[in-house]
Amino acid sequence: MSPQHAEKEAPKISATQRFLVGIRSTGRTLLDLAYPPGCIACREAVTEPGTLCASCWPKMRFIERPYCEKLGTPFTHDLGPGVLSSEAIADPPAYSKARAVARYEDGPVSQMVHRLKYTDRVELALPMGRWMARAGAELIEDSSVIVPVPLHRKRLFSRRFNQAALLAQAIAKYRPAEVDTTILRRTRPTLPQIGLTRAQRASNVQGAIQVAEEARERIAGRKVVLVDDVLTSGATTDAASRTLLRAGAARVDVLVFARVVRDA
Ligand SMILES: [Zn+2]
Repeated sequence: MSPQHAEKEAPKISATQRFLVGIRSTGRTLLDLAYPPGCIACREAVTEPGTLCASCWPKMRFIERPYCEKLGTPFTHDLGPGVLSSEAIADPPAYSKARAVARYEDGPVSQMVHRLKYTDRVELALPMGRWMARAGAELIEDSSVIVPVPLHRKRLFSRRFNQAALLAQAIAKYRPAEVDTTILRRTRPTLPQIGLTRAQRASNVQGAIQVAEEARERIAGRKVVLVDDVLTSGATTDAASRTLLRAGAARVDVLVFARVVRDA
């Protein structure tokens, strides 16, 4: 489904209003009262709101152990505990560990990502955040601060919400920790990472994400869990992690809903 593809959906209620109602009533939103619940990916009718339909479930490729302890990329064979992938050894990222719920690929995963990001279906953040809280359980401690990857204010203005911030808030509902959406900011707009080479991706985000001056004190010595919807090349999360560590964070881990996995 193309990002430009506009879904024909139910009437608009303010995005924040819908999200809050969803949070208060564990996934049951105002819209559900007027419309039968739909699959969170394909919109096929389901009996329980906030769930996948019977045909989407088996298409989900959840990432489970065995995986690289650092990158969280799945292994085809179990090589024993704590093993790192050759990629993690050859080109170690700035963050300590990354975890993802599922592989990013066509099907329910990309449908959920696109619906949350482009079609204003903010209530999707709840079931997605619930999966993320589980996938990232070992990363989130009571003292952690969950920090979403920021959008540039121009994009935030046109889209009205940051999907990473919604996911961060949803995660904290299932795995209580502080969420701080004001620590990182984009100082200049960046191109979408899709279609860029690895080197272009790195230079595209270089210096574009910074720790807000007044936030330095708040993250000094803290364990940060950086949250985003999708991890593609890792250039954005790596740049953001570097920035957080330079500003004094004790450790940065990354938690995303979906990640691109190249099959070896
Ligand atoms: Zn479905």
